[in-house]
Amino acid sequence: MTPAADRTLAENWRAARPPVAGVHFDSAACSRQSFAVIDAAAQHARHEAEVGGYVAAEAAAPALDAGHAAVRALTGMRDADVVLTTGANHALDILLGEWTGERTLACLPGEFGPSLMSMQRHGFEIRELPVDGFGRLDLDAVGAFLSSNPPALVHFTVLASHTGIVQPAREMASACRAHDITLIVDAAQGFAHLDCTGIGADVLYTTSRKWTAGPRGVGMLATRPGWFSQATMERLSHAEKNIGLHVALSVALGEHVAAGPQEIQARLREVGAVTRGALGQATGWRVVEPDDEPSAITTLQPPDGVDPMEVRARLIAEHSIVTTFLGLERAPREMTRPALRVSPHVDVTDADLETLVEALAAVTR
Ligand SMILES: *Cc1c(COP(=O)(O)O)cnc(C)c1O
Repeated sequence: MTPAADRTLAENWRAARPPVAGVHFDSAACSRQSFAVIDAAAQHARHEAEVGGYVAAEAAAPALDAGHAAVRALTGMRDADVVLTTGANHALDILLGEWTGERTLACLPGEFGPSLMSMQRHGFEIRELPVDGFGRLDLDAVGAFLSSNPPALVHFTVLASHTGIVQPAREMASACRAHDITLIVDAAQGFAHLDCTGIGADVLYTTSRKWTAGPRGVGMLATRPGWFSQATMERLSHAEKNIGLHVALSVALGEHVAAGPQEIQARLREVGAVTRGALGQATGWRVVEPDDEPSAITTLQPPDGVDPMEVRARLIAEHSIVTTFLGLERAPREMTRPALRVSPHVDVTDADLETLVEALAAVTR
């Protein structure tokens, strides 16, 4: 196994962070923040104590503007309005709550469970987009699907939480445009991981803590200008927020842009391939994605009789390896059995992967 690693990118990424206690394979849930990101949040809190929270907020305005500009650049939504929320689900909740059209939407069968719950809570009728055996949008069938019974909007998750299958977002956007259907993109797993520029969505939202490696409890919502009413924009911008975390997210976005979004994307594709190659040797476990699927999320289905929830717990307790347990509630319309998710970031090493393969064998025995 010889990953043609971009040493500089990986080494810089690792050196910018506190040393990891064990092995971290949980970037799709929560990446490791850098020293600069951690310090930015602490420094802002200190400044609030020194000069007052509202004066400190004014002083932070240029840093926050830079973060908004980075969101526009990384989505290619050049004149988007950007609102920071407390997470991706919060962004969806705002969007669906404010929707004034007919409450019908189409999404993939692999839609994220909490998002489905939000859609139901807001009274939306949910239809399932056509897919292939991997749960990937069926491009041959989508046109007919949208013509025969057009939903008011499509909610499209570019990369799911329970599988590393990359969805054709640009093609979805063209189909929506052709049928005059509003497109909302969930990029919680795609942002700062896949190329999310120029998808052509009306709205894109994402989260800070995953591949962006920003703080927890922050989400980003980018909308076509004029999407929300003036009154809604004012209400959203005056809502109480943790400015220190927003400043920290701006720093994380700045680091991402400085490292090179395309370099990071290329490295993460390579990370996915190397990870699947290594885990293909973990006896009894089945890698769900094709080896060369262009994402860094790898999903493993356990051998019969093995409980991935227990395996996750034992990997932490006995081997200091952090992975994710995937229960069926994560994608209730698609998952048929629980799984284990392995999501390293750019700094993964062959040794990390060997450690995981050995530990998996030990806890599966
Ligand atoms: C994590 C995730 C979300 C929710 O993000 P939060 O910031 O926790 O609200 C939404 N959609 C997908 C696909 C996710 O993976």
